[in-house]
Amino acid sequence: MIRTYAFARTLYCRSVTSSQIWKAPKGVWRVPCCPGLYQNVNCQLDSGKSFATEIPICKERDAHHTTLNMCPHGVQVRADENTRMLHVALEDGNVASFPYIWLRDSCLCSECHSPSSRSRSLLMAELNVDVKASAFQVDPTTGDIEVTWDDGHVSTYQLDWLKKHNFSAEARRCRLSDTYLKGGKKFWGAELNGNIPRFDFKEVISDNEQMYRFLDTIRVTGIAVVHNAPQDTGVVVTLGNAIAFIRPCNYGDTFQVYTRPDPKNAAYTAGALEMHTDLSYFDYMPGVQFLHCIKQSNMGGTNQFADGYYAAENIRKSNLAAFNLLAETVVDFHDMGHDQHVGDYLQQSRGTTIQLDGDGNYNHVRISNHGRCDFLNTDKEHAREWYKAYILLYHSFYAKENMVEYKMEPGEIICFDNVRVLHGRSAIFANFGGEGSLPERHLEGAYVDWDAWNSKLRSLREELGR
Ligand SMILES: [Zn+2]
Repeated sequence: MIRTYAFARTLYCRSVTSSQIWKAPKGVWRVPCCPGLYQNVNCQLDSGKSFATEIPICKERDAHHTTLNMCPHGVQVRADENTRMLHVALEDGNVASFPYIWLRDSCLCSECHSPSSRSRSLLMAELNVDVKASAFQVDPTTGDIEVTWDDGHVSTYQLDWLKKHNFSAEARRCRLSDTYLKGGKKFWGAELNGNIPRFDFKEVISDNEQMYRFLDTIRVTGIAVVHNAPQDTGVVVTLGNAIAFIRPCNYGDTFQVYTRPDPKNAAYTAGALEMHTDLSYFDYMPGVQFLHCIKQSNMGGTNQFADGYYAAENIRKSNLAAFNLLAETVVDFHDMGHDQHVGDYLQQSRGTTIQLDGDGNYNHVRISNHGRCDFLNTDKEHAREWYKAYILLYHSFYAKENMVEYKMEPGEIICFDNVRVLHGRSAIFANFGGEGSLPERHLEGAYVDWDAWNSKLRSLREELGR
C-alpha cells in the first residue's frame, strides 16, 4: 500500500544503492506503509522518481545516517538488536530510544498492568532481561507502536506516552522536577512585607481552583495568609482535612499557643521566640504549619518570618566554606517533658542545618535554637568555625532586607513551609490575672505533611488539567 507523507522540513538522503547524497525537497513523498523490520524505505517523489533510501535522523549532510522505518502517521521507528532498543524519531528531529527490557517491564496491557489500581501487575519473576522484539508495526491511523516480543507477548505503546517517558537527560530532569513539584520556587526577602499572598478561608475549602492556587503558593513561595476563618478552635483541622489530614505530634492533633504561667515549651512563654523550624527534634519534620489567630494581644506578639532557602542561597554565593559547613555538619536536637496526650516524652533527632538533594536543590533547613542539644558532634578544632557559620546564617534571617513581619488579626491563619520558612515572634505583653483568667493571645496550630500536601496538589493539577 502506498500512502503519502508530508515532511515538515528539509531532509538529506543517501541512496542505499550508491554513495550519492542529495538534499530531498520539501513536499509530499510517497512511501510504503509501515515497512517491516530492517527494511529500507522506498521513497517516491512527486515527479515520479522513486528510490530506495535511508532517512537520516539529523539535518547535517555529513552526520551519521540511520535507517528508519516510516508510517504515514509520521512516526519513524527502528528496532536495534545490537543495543536492544527501539529508536523512535520525534517531530523535533531528535530520536528517543527505549530499552527493550524497560518497554517490556512497562507494558500497559491488562495482563501486565491493572487499570483499577493503576499499578504494575507484571511480576519481576516473569521479566527476562534478555527480551527481544521479534517484530513491530506502527498503526497508520493512531501512530501507536505495537511490539511483538520473542516470548510471543504483544505490547502496544502510544506515541504520546513514549514521549513522556523519554530517557534523554533533559526529559528526565524535567520529569523529576515536575513529578516531585520541585521547580519554580520563588525565594524572597523583605519585599514580601505587606505582600504575603492571601486567600479566603471559605473559598479555599470549597473551591478546587482556590485550593489549587493556595497549595501551589505554599509550594512555590512557602507562605500565605488564609483570612475570614471562624474564630474558633478546630478550624485548623477543618483546613487540614480539606487538603488531606493533619499530622499529630506529642502536643496533640493541634497545639494551643498562649502564654502560660508554667510553660512546657518556649512557644508558651511571653518572651520573644527566635526564628526556628518546628519539631526539629523529629526525624521527619512536619511539612506545612498552620497558625490560626483566635485572639490577639494588643501589644507585641508580631510574627517574624524569613526564607531559609534564600538566606542559605545568599551564603552559598558569598561564603561557600560557611555554606558547606552548614550543609555537612550534623546538629542534634531534643525536646523533653510531659503532655496530657502522650505522658512523658523525650524527642531526639539530628540533621544538617541545610539539607540538599542530589542535584543541589534545597530539601530543608533544620534550625531551632531552643531545641538544639548542649553537645556538639564536631571536632573541637572545627567548633568555632561551625559557630561562625551558624551565627552568620542566624543573623541573615533578621537582616532588614530579609525579614518579614506580620501581626495576625483574629480569624487569620498564617500557613508556611515549616522546613523552609523560619518563624518566630516578638515578646508578648501578658497579664495572667488571677486563677483561670483567659490568655491575652491565643493561637491554635496544626501541621500537614508535604506527602499529603503534594498528593492533593498533583491530584488537583490532573483534575484541573494544569
Ligand atoms: Zn503486557
